[in-house]
Amino acid sequence: MSTPVLDFIKKQIALNGPMDMGTFTGHVLAHPKYGYYIRQDPFGAEGHFITSPEISQMFGEMIGAWAADLWMKLGQPNPFILLEAGPGRGTLMMDALRATKNIPGFHDALEVHLLEASPALRKRQAKALKDYQPHWHGTLETLPRDKPLILIANEFLDALPARQFEVTEKGWMERVVVVAEEKKNPFGGMAGVMRALAPNLFSTGAEEESGLGSGLVPLPREMMTLIPKEFHEAPAESVYEFSPASHAFIRNLCAMMREQGGAALFIDYGHKEPKLGDGLRAIYRHKVVHPLTHVGDADLSFHVDFSAMAAAARAEGAHVHGPVEQRQFLKSLGIEVRAEALKKNATDMQKEDIDTAMRRLTEPDQMGNFLVIGLTYGSTETPAGF
Ligand code: SAH
Repeated sequence: MSTPVLDFIKKQIALNGPMDMGTFTGHVLAHPKYGYYIRQDPFGAEGHFITSPEISQMFGEMIGAWAADLWMKLGQPNPFILLEAGPGRGTLMMDALRATKNIPGFHDALEVHLLEASPALRKRQAKALKDYQPHWHGTLETLPRDKPLILIANEFLDALPARQFEVTEKGWMERVVVVAEEKKNPFGGMAGVMRALAPNLFSTGAEEESGLGSGLVPLPREMMTLIPKEFHEAPAESVYEFSPASHAFIRNLCAMMREQGGAALFIDYGHKEPKLGDGLRAIYRHKVVHPLTHVGDADLSFHVDFSAMAAAARAEGAHVHGPVEQRQFLKSLGIEVRAEALKKNATDMQKEDIDTAMRRLTEPDQMGNFLVIGLTYGSTETPAGF
């Protein structure tokens, strides 16, 4: 089995040696030509997952209400940037905008900006948001720097790559990806050289059908500062994940908000406290598969470490609100009232659909236990929902 991104990764490993999981997942998802998000519409016929805005319009409507409330708390700046990171099909933004049409001044003041890596998804967003003339960006750097920004993001951070560290008998090491075929030729490639020179510091695990294998390499001492002290003596096989990409994203965003004013809202699956565990999931055709298989065809995601996100934001002087659970957030924004209003003009079947959607968005074994975090500057007034 071969995909363009798999061939690219094998060449990189042959040139540069074992590849850390952050670099690997970064290439798989967002390589500018071959990445999973670049090549296809991940929500298409082969779509692998369903997200809250795709379950019900009520989700985007609540986020719209949150943004409008925040805009008022900021003193109704005109103009301002309404930015969505990773907008998928554009459904959330579309519902948020429709729900806020009648808020005096809000639509006149807002400019819609979208941070999106995928050309296929940009096309879908263009269709969904054709009445709002959105501006697209590949990174935060190209955003205007002269007006406040309100950012919303659902299931964006979990798509950013993370590195994985693991406890072995020799202490903490870093998980890497190697080309398994190299095992047959111990002198081939960087991995081969490392194994030949320092066999006790390098080990490889199972080979996958992709021809990739996993390995562990020593962790430079300074990298230990990334692992919370409480985990330094964790038992063998414990895994700790750190996402340099999410960390950098939050810090860059916060630096902008500090200068320009603004606020941000992130919703994702993850944990409130630092946690051990392997959160990397590969989903291919609705099934969990090994991350080194279906490379480039499977969606990869991590669990979001909200404590690390909060720490990155505080380091840039942001006020952090939450994290709270999605269930609590949506209810305090009035999703139940909205559901009742929708049901008034609905057929019996539609009523049932609304109830089902409500359960999926709010019950703890569905999406109700997703976490929500808010970031603000200056004004300490708590945003809605927290
Ligand atoms: N928010 C949407 C989609 C979530 S999927 C929803 O809730 O339905 C993740 C989204 O982030 C996709 O739009 C994907 O193309 C985008 N994305 C992933 N990595 C990205 C990156 N590095 N830069 C910009 N967008 C990215």
